[in-house]
Amino acid sequence: MRTAPLAFADARADLQGAEFVIFGVPFDETSTFRKGSSLAPEKIREASYNFETYIFEQDIDLDDVPFHDAGDVECSGGVEEVLGRVRDFSREVAHSGKIPIAIGGDHSITPAIVEGLGETGVVILDAHLDFRDSYEGERLSHACATRRVSEIVGIDHVLPVGVRSFSKKESIDAEELGLSYIPASEVFERKLMASVARKALSFVERSEIYLSIDMDVIDPAYAPGVGNPEPFGLTADQVRELVDLLGSRLVGLDLVEVSPPHDLGTTSLLAARLIREAIAVMKKAHI
Ligand code: MN
Ligand code: MN
Repeated sequence: MRTAPLAFADARADLQGAEFVIFGVPFDETSTFRKGSSLAPEKIREASYNFETYIFEQDIDLDDVPFHDAGDVECSGGVEEVLGRVRDFSREVAHSGKIPIAIGGDHSITPAIVEGLGETGVVILDAHLDFRDSYEGERLSHACATRRVSEIVGIDHVLPVGVRSFSKKESIDAEELGLSYIPASEVFERKLMASVARKALSFVERSEIYLSIDMDVIDPAYAPGVGNPEPFGLTADQVRELVDLLGSRLVGLDLVEVSPPHDLGTTSLLAARLIREAIAVMKKAHI
């Protein structure tokens, strides 16, 4: 691990005493359209200083929550080597009874974290299905994240939500292999996020949930600074509500695909706020 230039705001606990462990993965080697997510951990940490420690909706003050910022995973070397470090660190954190919170980086990091956690259901908020078997010869590409996760936890225990873009081949593969997903249009039809969360939880069939937030699930109007922006997305508030509703079940979390070179700061702010929200709801669940 490498020390970050600036730790996430209010992450004052040491590793030993922490219940939640934030770490950055400044890695965008598998990005396909707009690179830049390697700069996201630093920008999101900077943005985290904008906010009050008190999250009034949850009645939780982050000053009272022991969480630690472990810095960044060393991202030199090949894709496999980097993802191996991500897996090993996540495993170490989970095995010590703490909850890992990863700041990407591109979406390729998610299967590595899930592998480090063991048996869990996985909810993936993403505009894309990420269900390619490989992309330009790379099976560890961010375009294959859901596919790789499904091979680790089983296809019945992973559910993408907010999807509105995939290839014909991914659609055929999803049908053949039995991947369920909730398209963005269904999220809008259901209106109530409680209904979406209920369906998601019933589909993944596990009481412990890992949540992966690909920021492009949110409409580019709210989150323009992402690698692969996709119109007709969820609102920022819908995603916050989903985080709130899933919070009590979470055993780990990542937030990926923010691309600061394409951002005016808005997306990093929203990302930092969602991480703070997640910490508050998880803490509330474990009090
Ligand atoms: Mn993705
Ligand atoms: Mn995506």
